[in-house]
Amino acid sequence: MSAARPLSPGAVVGILGGGQLGRMLAMAAARLGLKAHIYSPDPQSCALEVVRRHTLADYGDEAALDGFAREVDVITYEFENVPADAAMFLASRRPVMPDPSVLATTQDRLIEKDFIAGLGVATAPFVRVDSPAELSRAIETIGRPAVLKTRRFGYDGKGQVTIRDGTALEAAWRAIGGRPAILESFVDFEREISVVAARERGGRVECFDVTENEHRDHILKVSRVPALVSPAIADAAQAIAETIARAFDYVGVLAVEMFVPRAGETAVMVNEVAPRVHNSGHWTLDGASVSQFEQHIRAIAGWPLAKPVRRGRIEMINLIGEEVEEYARWLAEPHAKVHLYGKAHVRPGRKMGHVTCVSLDPAGHI
Ligand code: AMP
Repeated sequence: MSAARPLSPGAVVGILGGGQLGRMLAMAAARLGLKAHIYSPDPQSCALEVVRRHTLADYGDEAALDGFAREVDVITYEFENVPADAAMFLASRRPVMPDPSVLATTQDRLIEKDFIAGLGVATAPFVRVDSPAELSRAIETIGRPAVLKTRRFGYDGKGQVTIRDGTALEAAWRAIGGRPAILESFVDFEREISVVAARERGGRVECFDVTENEHRDHILKVSRVPALVSPAIADAAQAIAETIARAFDYVGVLAVEMFVPRAGETAVMVNEVAPRVHNSGHWTLDGASVSQFEQHIRAIAGWPLAKPVRRGRIEMINLIGEEVEEYARWLAEPHAKVHLYGKAHVRPGRKMGHVTCVSLDPAGHI
């Protein structure tokens, strides 16, 4: 279905997925006078706490999808593993943004990496691996250390294993469940960065400032803005995000995660693309003139994007698992903005909230 006219205040934005990203998208929609309708299979979804409209059903339930489509004016998603069939089914009824074809690319690491490489953008060298025998051959090409990643359903380090000097290949293959995979050269990066970019229906792109990301146990722990990179690297990173957004004919917010190799090495390398708002953009809620959530809602509504202006030096800290219990300490910090997602159960590795610290002194440290 082609993109319709711009929405008017009071229109309903349908959001597939009920996690914290859906929750923050719904809150941004509300601020702009729009209504949000969450579709989720999970009655415990934390996004349900902030909306009046919801559909509780599986993504394969066509009657529920049809009913949802009738209730909303535009449809978007807060996670990229929405089944492609469900997205296509909905797209025949209502505008779905970004286009479901983007999911087909980003749900599969091999297709995604081929797509990125096809744009002339650097990635770590990679090879397709479908069997233990192919893994042995791939390791000859790629060398050690290398990272074996399942093509589908990997996130926060799940479905991937690093192959070092002593690692037995059979064990690595078993560790990822013997599923179709790619083997990627291990990047000895200086730092990890990301760019959150928004693209309007009309094609205009606005990038947020480059963010530097620190992971712990493969889960994002801290984002700092601005990233400590040269202006040339920052420009190159934003140009890559813009190239990808244009190549997808993208509408909405996307995030591109990249490695900055050590000095003197090749260009910035793309690790992965998230076709949605992203954890490394949470700082924009408190640290920029417009948030990534608002930009996404503006874009899919057919409204103009804002030009983002950063407010200072920013640190965003994720509250993971039991760390959320320290909320009272964070509430007492004068510069900290506390965001709790209201999730019913604390589990190790689960993102429970985040804190943003903004230093208005551009040279100051937080
Ligand atoms: P991913 O699931 O691809 O986003 O990977 C999660 C994290 O694992 C990244 O943010 C990196 O910290 C690390 N990682 C992934 N791929 C590589 C690689 N090829 N070389 C070095 N570290 C990697």
